[in-house]
Amino acid sequence: PAPPGAVLNSPPPGSTPSAQGPAEYFTGRVRIDCPFCGSGNLSAATVTFEPGARTAWHTHPLGQTLLVTAGFGLVGRWGGEVQEIRPGDTVWIEPDEKHWHGASPDCAMTHIAICEMKDGKAVEWMEHVSDEDYRSTK
Ligand code: MN
Repeated sequence: PAPPGAVLNSPPPGSTPSAQGPAEYFTGRVRIDCPFCGSGNLSAATVTFEPGARTAWHTHPLGQTLLVTAGFGLVGRWGGEVQEIRPGDTVWIEPDEKHWHGASPDCAMTHIAICEMKDGKAVEWMEHVSDEDYRSTK
């Protein structure tokens, strides 16, 4: 383990190419960057959603924390209302809670997504979020 106060040993900037969110799991244009590399079971990424873009429905076996860093976005929970999220918001997703997250229809959103993996798995992907569900705000 790193000594107290040590800077995490992340790969140097520019060494890891940005990735595009695959159409299988995302709607619209989504960019994924690795902000830091955890060790062991920690999974983290910076994800940027263009306006209208969002994840498919999915769950995380040990839950997930979203730190909104830019823009204006939405989180939908199965059976719940769509929630607006803004920079500075921290969103907790319960273990195995079916949900999605993404940009608002007219404004991009960036968040840092952090979760612990269970048996090497961070996410279980499901169906895409329909336009009807995406726009069911309030
Ligand atoms: Mn999630």
